Amino acid sequence: MAWTPRTAEILRAVAAYQLAQEALAGEFSARWAEALAAVEAREVAASLTELEAAYVAAIRESAAASYALSVAFYRLVRALETGRVIGGPGYRPGASLGSLWADFNRATGTRTGSGPTTPLPVDTRNPFPAEALEREARRAEETFRHQVADRVDRHERERPAREGSAALDDAELIAWEKEFLESLKTGGSGAGGMLVQDGGRDAIHTALQDDPGAIGYYRATDASPCYFCALMAGRGAVYKSRSTAAFGAHPHCHCQAVPIFSRRYQLPSENDAFARMWKRFGGGSLADWRTYYSTTTKTKT
Ligand SMILES: [Zn+2]
Repeated sequence: MAWTPRTAEILRAVAAYQLAQEALAGEFSARWAEALAAVEAREVAASLTELEAAYVAAIRESAAASYALSVAFYRLVRALETGRVIGGPGYRPGASLGSLWADFNRATGTRTGSGPTTPLPVDTRNPFPAEALEREARRAEETFRHQVADRVDRHERERPAREGSAALDDAELIAWEKEFLESLKTGGSGAGGMLVQDGGRDAIHTALQDDPGAIGYYRATDASPCYFCALMAGRGAVYKSRSTAAFGAHPHCHCQAVPIFSRRYQLPSENDAFARMWKRFGGGSLADWRTYYSTTTKTKT
C-alpha cells in the first residue's frame, strides 16, 4: 500500500525545527555575551586565552545539540514522508512515528507532534556523517581570530593615541570602549552562531547525498530573512541531481535545509510568498532584487 506523506505534520516539524535551531544559536550568543560581560574592556587583551576557550567550548556544546536535533528531524521527516525509518545515530529497533516524534520533541524541548507506536519498516543504512570535530574546532578558532583577537589587536594599537588625546573626554573614551565590546559581542555571536547551526546543517546536507531515499532539499528561513535567503527560499526545491552546491548560510542567518523524500512535498507558505514576490519583481540583477525586497518587506510591516 502506498504511503501518503503527512504534509501538515511535516510542516509543523519544519517550523519547530527552524525555531529550535535558531534557539541554539541564541543560547550560544547568550553564553558568549556572559563570558564577555565578565571582563572589563581593558582586560580583554590579557584574557584572550580564557575567552577563546569559552568561545570554542560553547560552540562545541551547542553544535552537538544542533547535530542531534538534525538527525532526529531528518529521521522524522523521512518517516512522515515515506513511512520508512532510517538507521544511524539514535536509531532504536521498533521505531515508530510515535517514538520518532518523542525523540524530536525531546530534542526541540517542545510537544510538536505524536504518532502511533506501530513499528515502521527500516532502511538500516546510516547516511549521517560523524561529527567533524577537528574541522569544527579549527573553524571556531579561525572565527575567534577574525571576530575577536584581530579586533582586540586593532583596539589596543589605537589605545595610546585615544588615551593621550586631549580631544577625547572621559565620556567619549567610555563610549569607545563600549562600542568595542559591542563589536566583539555581535561579531562573535553572528559567526559563532553560524558554526553552531552548521553542526546540524552539514549533517543534513551530507545525509542527503548518502541517502538514496532523499531527492533534494529546500530552504526554510527564519521570520525575517535577508534578501539572499528569501530568494533562495523562493526558488523551492534543490534537487540532488542538479545541484550539490553548499547551502550558503551566513552569520546571523537562521535558515535550515529541509530534506525532501517525495515529489509530493509541500513548501511552507513563506517560501511560496517569496516565490510570488520574485514573480512580481519580474527579474533583474541581485542588487535590484535587494532594493525591491527591502522596500516590499518594509511596506508590508
Ligand atoms: Zn538565511
